[in-house]
Amino acid sequence: MYFLCKYKPIDKNKVSLIGKSLNLPWPNQPSLRKVPEPINNKTHNMMTENLHINFTDTRIAFASKNSNSLRKAYFLFSLMNWNGLVKLGTFFIQLALKLNLPVKPFIRRTLFSQFCGGENIEDCNKTIRLLSEYNIGTILDYAVEGASNEKHFLKTFNETLANVQKSAGLKEIPFCVFKITGLASHALLAKIQSKKPLSPKEEEQFEKLRVRVDTICQTAFEHKVRLFIDAEETWIQVPIDNLVREMMEKYNKNSPIVYNTYQLYCVNKLLDLKNDYKLAKERGYFLGAKLVRGAYMEKERERAERLGYPDPIQPNKTACDLDYNTALEFCVKHIDTIAICAGTHNENSCYHLTALLRKHDIPNGHSHIHFAQLYGMSDNISFNLSKAGYNVAKYVPYGPIKAVLPYLFRRAEENTSIAGQTSREFNLIKSELKRRKSEKAVKAHQ
Ligand SMILES: Cc1cc2nc3c(=O)[nH]c(=O)nc-3n(C[C@H](O)[C@H](O)[C@H](O)COP(=O)(O)OP(=O)(O)OC[C@H]3O[C@@H](n4cnc5c(N)ncnc54)[C@H](O)[C@@H]3O)c2cc1C
Repeated sequence: MYFLCKYKPIDKNKVSLIGKSLNLPWPNQPSLRKVPEPINNKTHNMMTENLHINFTDTRIAFASKNSNSLRKAYFLFSLMNWNGLVKLGTFFIQLALKLNLPVKPFIRRTLFSQFCGGENIEDCNKTIRLLSEYNIGTILDYAVEGASNEKHFLKTFNETLANVQKSAGLKEIPFCVFKITGLASHALLAKIQSKKPLSPKEEEQFEKLRVRVDTICQTAFEHKVRLFIDAEETWIQVPIDNLVREMMEKYNKNSPIVYNTYQLYCVNKLLDLKNDYKLAKERGYFLGAKLVRGAYMEKERERAERLGYPDPIQPNKTACDLDYNTALEFCVKHIDTIAICAGTHNENSCYHLTALLRKHDIPNGHSHIHFAQLYGMSDNISFNLSKAGYNVAKYVPYGPIKAVLPYLFRRAEENTSIAGQTSREFNLIKSELKRRKSEKAVKAHQ
C-alpha cells in the first residue's frame, strides 16, 4: 500500500534556477566531491552499449492494449500535454467536486482508469490479472491522501494488512508497500527527528506506530510477502530509517522481506546505503533496498532555503543520476546480501542495471533484482524488461476517486509538455498507433 505516493512532478524551470546556488556542504557529503559534468553522448553511448533490450519497441510495450484503449490513452495524454489545460482542469474538477457536480464518471473514465487499479482491493483484480499475463507483478498501493488522524491511520493499517494477506502465495503480487505517514503524523516524526523531548501522549503515539509497523512486518514475514516502506521527506526520514533497520534485522535473517527506500537525490544516500550494507553484513541479515531518485526535490530545497540549512539534494540532475547508477553497481556487486528494486522510469538506469547483470553473470530473473514502475506510465520499460525475463512490477494505486485525486493530478502534471516538448508517454503511444496503422495497411495489400 502506498498511502501518499507523493511523486511530485518537477517544475524544470524552477529546478534549474534553484540548482544554480546549490553547491553547499552536507554532513555526510565527502567534502571534495566533484560535481559531475552533464552526461554527454559518449557517456550515454558507454552506458547503453551492447544493449540487448530495446525500450522503443512499442509493439511489446503496448501489447496489452487494444487500439481503442490506446486511442483513449492517446487522447488523454494529448490533453495532458497542454499545461494550461491541466491547471484549469485541476481547478475545475476540485470546484465541481466541492459543488457536488457529477464529474466522477468523467474522472473515472479518464485519469482514474489510466493511473489507478480501482476504488478498492477487489476492483484491482482485473488489472492484476492483465499485468500477470505479461509476467508483470502488481504492487497494490493504497493511494488515499490528506487525512492525518487516528481514524485514517487505523484504516491504512488495516488496508496494509489486508494487502499483505491477499498477496500471500500469489506470484502476481510480489510486493506490498506502505508509507509511515499513513500510520503516524508527520509532526510526530519531525519532532522525533528534531530530538525534542516527546510528551507522554506523543510517546504513546510513537509506541503505537512501532507496534503497527512491527505487526505489518511480522505478518509479511509469516506469509513470506516482501514489503516496501516508502521514503519521504528528509526531515522525517531518520526515524523512518531507524524503524525500518530494526524491522530488517528482525525479519530479514532468512530472506529479504522488508525493504527500505533510498532516495539517491540526497547527497548522503549512497553513503547511507553502504553503511546499511555493512550493518546488515555484520549482524547477519539481508538488506532490502528500493532505489529511487526521490520525489520531493522542490519541497526539500524550498525548506532548506527557508530555514537556512544546507540543501540535502544533489547539486544537479547529473550528480543524482551518477549516484543512482553507482548505487545500482554497489548493490549488484553485493547481491548475495542485498536485494534491490530499481523504482525508476529512467531508461538509462534500467539499461545500466541490465548491463550490470550481464557483466556479473547474474541471471535476468534473479530473485534479488526487481524493476518497478507506476501503473499507466513507462509501459515501454516494464513490458520490454518483462519480455526479456527480468522481474518487473508496477505500483497499482487504488482508493476512492475523490481521495486519490491529488495522486491523479500529480500524474497529469508530470505528463504536461515541458519547454514545448511533448511527454515521452504521448510520443510512445503516438508511434505505436502509427505502427499499427502501417501494419494494417501492409496486411491489406498482401
Ligand atoms: C516504483 C516506484 C517507487 C517509488 N517510490 C518512491 C519513494 O518511496 N519515495 C520517493 O521519494 N519517491 C519514490 N518514487 C519516485 C521517484 O523518486 C522519482 O521521483 C520518479 O520515479 C522520477 O525519477 P526517475 O528515476 O523515474 O527518473 P528521472 O525522470 O530520470 O529523474 C527525475 C528525478 O531526478 C531527480 N532530479 C531531477 N532534477 C534534479 C536536479 N536538478 N538535481 C538533483 N536531482 C534532480 C529528482 O529526484 C526527480 O524526481 C518511486 C518511483 C517508482 C517508479
